[in-house]
Order: sequence, then structure tokens, then C-alpha cells
Amino acid sequence: MTANYDSCIKCGKALVSDEISLNRKLINRNAVTFLCIDCLAEYFKVDKNVIVDRIRFYRENGCSLFK
Ligand SMILES: [Zn+2]
Repeated sequence: MTANYDSCIKCGKALVSDEISLNRKLINRNAVTFLCIDCLAEYFKVDKNVIVDRIRFYRENGCSLFK
């Protein structure tokens, strides 16, 4: 499998692991293509801060995807 694991499929921006984890959490646990925070916000039609808060929420709640 040759999926690109580290850049946004929409804008091509390099991704950090939290962004990849959030894609798995919100969209598909087995996702192999990912969106950056900006594009996730657009996808869900929410403010970027909502996405950032969500990452913090999962991390504080000890979600295994966020380390
Ligand atoms: Zn993007």
C-alpha cells in the first residue's frame, strides 16, 4: 500500500500526528487519507478552534489514538 500518510489530501499541507489521529477518530478509524485541521474544519463546517479543542479533549481523556 502506497498511501500518503503525512499530507492533507485536499491542500497538501504536512500533517502532525494529532491531525492524523483526529481523522481516524472523527472520520474513519482505518483511514489512509487525511485532512489537516483547516480542511477538517471546513469539512465539518465548524471553526478551526472547535477542531483544536477536540484534539485537546481526546488527549485529556486519554484516548489511545492521542499520545
Ligand atoms: Zn488541508
